[in-house]
Amino acid sequence: MKFVDAHIHLADDRYSQNVKEIVKEAKQLGVLGLVANAMDIQTSHKSLKLAKEHPNHVYAALGIHPWNTKNLAENEVQDTVDLILANAKNRQQVVAVGEIGLDATYSGNGEPTEIQMQVFHEMLSVAEKIELPVIIHSRGTTSQIVNMLPSYKIKKVLLHWFSQPHSILPTIVDRGYYITEGPPALFSGGIREVIRRIPLTKFMTETDGPVRFRGPFNGKLTTPSFIPDVVDAVAELKGREKSEVADQIFQNFVDFFELEGVRNKRHDEGTS
Ligand SMILES: [Zn+2]
Repeated sequence: MKFVDAHIHLADDRYSQNVKEIVKEAKQLGVLGLVANAMDIQTSHKSLKLAKEHPNHVYAALGIHPWNTKNLAENEVQDTVDLILANAKNRQQVVAVGEIGLDATYSGNGEPTEIQMQVFHEMLSVAEKIELPVIIHSRGTTSQIVNMLPSYKIKKVLLHWFSQPHSILPTIVDRGYYITEGPPALFSGGIREVIRRIPLTKFMTETDGPVRFRGPFNGKLTTPSFIPDVVDAVAELKGREKSEVADQIFQNFVDFFELEGVRNKRHDEGTS
C-alpha cells in the first residue's frame, strides 16, 4: 500500500537530529509522498533543501504561518515571496505555498491580527501569480477564509486539519477544495464526523508533526509512521477496504500537487 503525509513540518528543530531516519522509515512503511510545510523564511529554505535531498519523496511548501507574523524579520515577507518566485518553476520540489492562513485564537481577541491579514494576502497573491496550490491553516477562521478565497484566482486549496464548522463542508466540496486530517481520526469525535462527511476524493492524510497527539500516540514523537493507522481509521469510518482508501488518497495527492515523478514511481512499483 502507498501512503502520503500531505502536511508535516520536517524542517522543525525537533526533527533535526534524525530527519534522515524519519524520511527513510517513512519510505520503508510505504509513505511515499511527504509535503514539508514551512513556518517562516528559515523553514522555507530548509524545506526546500529537504526536498532537494529526497527527490520524488519529499516536496516543499513555502510560506509564512500566521503564528510567525508577529516576530517577522526585516524584509521576511518579501524575501519569502522572492524565494517562492525563484523556485516556482521547479515543480518537482516546490508543490505549494504553505503553511499560510489566519488564526483567530492567537491574537487574544478572537480575530486575526492586521499583520496576519497582510501576510496572508501576500502569500495568496504570490500563489495566484505563479499558479501554485495553497495549504491553509484556518483555526477559528475557516468561514472567513472560505469567504475571502473567491477574490483570488487560486488554483487549488487544501484546508489542513479542518475541524469546523461542519456546515461549510458542502461549500468546500462544491468549490473543489481538499481537506487533510491526521491522528485525531482515531480519537476525536469531531474530526471523525468530518471524515464521515467529506467525499474521499477530496481527502488526504497528514500528521502535522512534530505536533504531539493523545490517544494511541500519547508520548510518541509524531512521524509519518502514524499514517497507516490514520488510513485504517478512515477506512473503518468510510466502510471501505484500507487498500482502496490508501489508493484513492495517493491518487488525490498526485492530482492535487501535480506530481508526475510520484506517478511514474507508482507505475514502476505496481499496485501491491
Ligand atoms: Zn502545520
